[in-house]
Amino acid sequence: MAVANHEQDKKLITILIPAYNEEEVLEQLINRLEIVKGSNSHYNFEFLFVNDGSEDHTLQILKKYNANTHYIRYVDLSRNFGKEIAMLAGFDYTKGDAVVILDADLQQPPELISEMIEWWEKGYEDVYAVREKREEESRLKEWTSKLYYKLLQKMSSENVYPLAGDFRLLDKKCIEALQGLREAERYTKGMYGWIGFKKKELTYYANGRAAGVTKWSWTQLFKLAINGITSYSTVPLKVWSYVGFIISILAFFSLAYEMGKTILYGTDVSGYPTMIAAILFLGGIQLISLGFIGEYLGRVFVETKGRPPYFVREKSSEKIKLKD
Ligand code: UDP
Ligand code: MG
Repeated sequence: MAVANHEQDKKLITILIPAYNEEEVLEQLINRLEIVKGSNSHYNFEFLFVNDGSEDHTLQILKKYNANTHYIRYVDLSRNFGKEIAMLAGFDYTKGDAVVILDADLQQPPELISEMIEWWEKGYEDVYAVREKREEESRLKEWTSKLYYKLLQKMSSENVYPLAGDFRLLDKKCIEALQGLREAERYTKGMYGWIGFKKKELTYYANGRAAGVTKWSWTQLFKLAINGITSYSTVPLKVWSYVGFIISILAFFSLAYEMGKTILYGTDVSGYPTMIAAILFLGGIQLISLGFIGEYLGRVFVETKGRPPYFVREKSSEKIKLKD
């Protein structure tokens, strides 16, 4: 449009928040975000919520906010698709010059957004925040996540940034890149590294959830972990040829040894327990390797169906006049 007034000249920052049953924290979250918005008044802001099939009043609350303010928008997914897909939906519906991904539960301090914007203005395209320590998180969870990222880093040729979560500011260019990666079984944390772009690391101290409970169960986390490995590494497919090779060599020598013993000393072959052990050992390894092949095959299967990753029930109308 020809007439560009002052408001429209400002850059638009989208705060993208996937929300699944977050009715208890929404008000507090929006209050905190409004403070950030107020202290960065030379930017336009929009808060884009992706309602990921919440069963509580999350959507109703969002609708109320949307009716009363011009900068709060929502996209309502047809069911719960999980955070990874909810974020993809967010990428599809945002038009911001920069997008900040934020969890609804206030474990990540929204106040850091101001600093992220500063670095973005200095030319960084992916300003991500690394958490220093997580309060209230069980030792076991902390330890397993550390071990997992170490393993993933070793197995993958791309850079995975451990501890860097989804809390980050992404330039429009990064968002467009991520929009292009449309696999259904997503591991977004690995994608940030893969797409490249200029990165800047900030640190923050994580808090416990403001309210509500974590939505990740151990089984979900396990699934995400397997997704992470199988989308970024083919090591589990290849490692078995080496394992098989080593076992064959060992088996050959032990066979030679047994034969020699029988020929030279005429000892009886009393191999029942060792045979059982060998059979079970090999059987186990075969099952594991088969399982890994199945895991990859399953991914291929899901992706070849080429289904749209999510469906939208409704979205709020855009009240902010967006550029282009
Ligand atoms: N979330 C979502 N869909 C889900 C699970 C979670 O959109 O199926 C959202 C949730 O509302 C929150 C963010 O993802 O904004 C992170 O979830 P949570 O705090 O439960 O995970 P954690 O911090 O324990 O990793
Ligand atoms: Mg959380």
